Amino acid sequence: MRYRINRRTGDRISEIGLGSAYLCGASMDEGVKALRTAYEGGINYFDLAAGNGRAFPMWGEALHDVRRNVIYQIHFGADYSRGEYGWSLELDTVKRSVERMLRELGTDYIDYGFIHCQDEAADWAAYRENGVYGYLLEMKHAGVVRHLGLSSHTPSVIRQILDDAPVDMLMFSVNPAYDYGQGEYANGGVDERSAVYRRCERDGIGISVMKPFSGGQLLDAARSPFRKALTIYQCIRYALDRPGVLTVLPGAQSAEEVRRLLAYCDQPGDALDYSAIGGFAPEEASGKCVYCNHCKPCPAGLDVGLINKYYDLALLGDGMAAEHYAGLARKAGDCVGCGHCDRRCPFGVRQSARMRAIATHFGG
Ligand code: SF4
Ligand code: SF4
Repeated sequence: MRYRINRRTGDRISEIGLGSAYLCGASMDEGVKALRTAYEGGINYFDLAAGNGRAFPMWGEALHDVRRNVIYQIHFGADYSRGEYGWSLELDTVKRSVERMLRELGTDYIDYGFIHCQDEAADWAAYRENGVYGYLLEMKHAGVVRHLGLSSHTPSVIRQILDDAPVDMLMFSVNPAYDYGQGEYANGGVDERSAVYRRCERDGIGISVMKPFSGGQLLDAARSPFRKALTIYQCIRYALDRPGVLTVLPGAQSAEEVRRLLAYCDQPGDALDYSAIGGFAPEEASGKCVYCNHCKPCPAGLDVGLINKYYDLALLGDGMAAEHYAGLARKAGDCVGCGHCDRRCPFGVRQSARMRAIATHFGG
């Protein structure tokens, strides 16, 4: 397992995490085995927006003895009073739900307390007016909540809440379908979604990824907007390549499904190449580097994707980007203009020209 650091909190977070939406479909025994397999495979980051409240005791049973080694993101606004998941902006309901989750998880603290599922500007107004945000802040002040999080599918709402609240982790729906305007949660255009990723990277806000397979749509050629199926490993790689992303949170219902996710760490580079989506990129995405490195190998030894990522972040005012760029062994100035990347890029990026611009910007 590889780990990434949340720069705002210092938490060391596994690239593969685990969502909980599907775990409630497992028996108690299967669920506990799945969670323990995840932990023993190096997964330390768990989202707890479960599909049904019956999942929480599984976590309590599976992980209570290693609680200090794992990180939970818990949602203030997810309601399980009727068993199934429900969404609530009502303070007493939220309080009862959080108390129940803590009890059944067998813990007395929350690593990331989430402002839950804010998809409309009106949600955020109601969340504050009803006292739910105040309650979350009180819990943080009391030390029950260590850090603040936000979950949303909507870039415009994310932008507003990040302006208003000291969020350390964003849970965002990330996959190539949504980024290219396809699917149920394809909110915001290409540039608006890219701006979310880059702002988070610039400000050190980690992103935990929900819906990495677009609800399975991307894994099925008949339903995929790209008219061919991607693998779970290509989807995971795509999400992990977005700036700001720390961890991807697919679901699993059994130890076997968890082992399949863990196998991501052993996949060869070819198996992670998601450049097939380039053939279906919308007009507005054409000519924009997605950092996929499909254009490798560069005869001058440049890491084209990483150089482009640092450049884009520097243009956005990320102070760390120039520092990271300075640490690269081979820089844009080493480009020999062979044109290999121009010919190979499925996204229509004129990379050799871009390398000249990047070298000018960074001075080498
Ligand atoms: S230039 Fe094209 S192929 Fe190369 S990293 Fe960027 S998007 Fe991928
Ligand atoms: S044009 Fe430059 S960056 Fe692209 S492959 Fe050739 S040397 Fe590498």
